Amino acid sequence: MVDEAAERFLAEVRAFARDVVAREAPAWAQGKRVDPAIFTSAAGIGLTRIEVPVAFGGLGFGFRTKVNACAILAAVDFGFAMALVNTHNVAKRVAISAPAQLARMLLPDLLTGRASACTALTEPGAGSDAGAMQCRAEKAPGGWVIEGEKTWIVNARHARHTIVYAQCAEPGQASGIAAFLVDLTDPACTQHAVDSAISQVSIGTGGFRLNRCFVPDERLLLPAGTAFKAILEEINGARIYVAAMNCAMVSAALRIAQSYGDTRQTFGKPLSHHANWREKLAECATALAAAWSLVEAALTAIDAGENVQHLAAAAKVNAVTLAQRELPMLLHAMGAEGLREIYLFARHIGSAQLAALTDGSTAMLLGRLGCWDPTPIQL
Ligand SMILES: Cc1cc2nc3c(=O)[nH]c(=O)nc-3n(C[C@H](O)[C@H](O)[C@H](O)COP(=O)(O)OP(=O)(O)OC[C@H]3O[C@@H](n4cnc5c(N)ncnc54)[C@H](O)[C@@H]3O)c2cc1C
Repeated sequence: MVDEAAERFLAEVRAFARDVVAREAPAWAQGKRVDPAIFTSAAGIGLTRIEVPVAFGGLGFGFRTKVNACAILAAVDFGFAMALVNTHNVAKRVAISAPAQLARMLLPDLLTGRASACTALTEPGAGSDAGAMQCRAEKAPGGWVIEGEKTWIVNARHARHTIVYAQCAEPGQASGIAAFLVDLTDPACTQHAVDSAISQVSIGTGGFRLNRCFVPDERLLLPAGTAFKAILEEINGARIYVAAMNCAMVSAALRIAQSYGDTRQTFGKPLSHHANWREKLAECATALAAAWSLVEAALTAIDAGENVQHLAAAAKVNAVTLAQRELPMLLHAMGAEGLREIYLFARHIGSAQLAALTDGSTAMLLGRLGCWDPTPIQL
């Protein structure tokens, strides 16, 4: 359950998704850059402030509200939802972990959408095995000198701030990894976009290089010994909202196919009156209900303060796999019309592929779930 204030906020997110994101998303999928004014409009309704404490200018809502907001946006454009939630998560981390004076200096631009932000672990030589990162932080008087490269990072093509994870000890030592807040406008940083045939525009994928970038002590957000554990916990939460986002993509596509099936006539009757056409959608709806239930189970466990490591991973694997399987089926069920740009099928099919890699790839999560027993009753 979310309270009345959160419900009002979510109603605004729905209107924004319908009136603004839905209008722009087809062009983003074709490579058109996101107008920065759209980020400030999104921030205007609170999308960068959801869980940020009220004392720092945030809305102070709970995790469930963030998950719902992400799902509502992703039903229209997964990439745009990911871009916003990544800036949001950095703002929240800055509010919680940065010295108060630094937080008060940085938060206004992040919370108003004038600046975006990213969280960077992945490197050209270290993805799944993030602990093998080569980016190095060396102690210097009054701060740290960071050298290294990050790639495939949400928002990195336009982010002003990054929380960068770097090795302070020997390579491969997870306990030596620390998190630093870096200003990417520093002359020692260079940023670039990462593009692909699946549009990376709205998700803002990019990378950056830090060339012996000096970072003052106060910007060490999470010291070695705590940083790697903290990011693994944060990623558990991310898996739940990515799961909800994939469910929402399938929900949106299913609704379109269902209503199209009521009007499109073949062999003298609507598609939805053909039992074998309807059966495919029924199977999709059944699997979708199960996927939403797994998201809800993970949220309930979070509310109860339980460990959600396995549930979050299972919810993500299940929802992403569902999206990868059902979105092409739903596109096919629309016939040729489903390929038109006004529909979201092709866009969401690409997004499900991105989702399968972000916040723990399907293969890596399955590796961990092999020893999980989810049985809820005594047998
Ligand atoms: C759109 C997008 C946005 C991203 N955003 C961010 C971000 O904001 N911040 C960030 O730090 N990273 C981000 N990433 C990077 C993402 O976390 C990595 O892509 C992911 O960790 C996988 O790493 P890799 O791509 O280097 O694949 P690799 O590690 O090279 O793996 C290749 C394939 O092999 C599989 N694999 C690897 N090891 C094993 C194994 N032991 N057993 C079985 N299978 C294995 C992987 O699952 C993958 O399918 C993003 C990626 C994408 C695509």
